Amino acid sequence: MQGIPDIIKLFSFAKKGLNFSHTYQVKDFPRIKKLLSNIDDKVKVELSFYIKNNVVPCIKGSIQLSAIVDCQRCLNEVNIHLSPSFKLGFLKNEQQKEKLDSSFETILNADKAFSTIEFITDELLISIPMSPMHPYKCQSYQDKEWINSQDKYHPFATLKQLKD
Ligand SMILES: [Zn+2]
Repeated sequence: MQGIPDIIKLFSFAKKGLNFSHTYQVKDFPRIKKLLSNIDDKVKVELSFYIKNNVVPCIKGSIQLSAIVDCQRCLNEVNIHLSPSFKLGFLKNEQQKEKLDSSFETILNADKAFSTIEFITDELLISIPMSPMHPYKCQSYQDKEWINSQDKYHPFATLKQLKD
């Protein structure tokens, strides 16, 4: 295992059968940094490169991180553990798809070299839930607003009691 280079050279890495691992921080990924509030926390990444059936370069990878995001029900922070893993086959043409079993996601006509950060970012973005929520039944912020608006009537209620 060695650190992950900044640029992925797909064919050369796959031919050599290289394995990489690195611990990044959330802030190393500009597009992810905007979505999470724990930007100093760790992002553990492992990538393995290999050639499948003598022709198709593949990347098997896993990512692990904690993401602190706003709960869409109560608007307080919620800490969700994300551990996306993926198996990608990079195809030159549609016919090559037959070389891979259905456990592979396929990408057609990828660049020969691409940014590691952007590649990991794309895999991470898919794993972040659209509407993150606490696993328990937290109080909806809409209900809270309703309670707050009820509170506003209290001064009048007190005034009425005084009159009586
Ligand atoms: Zn919540």
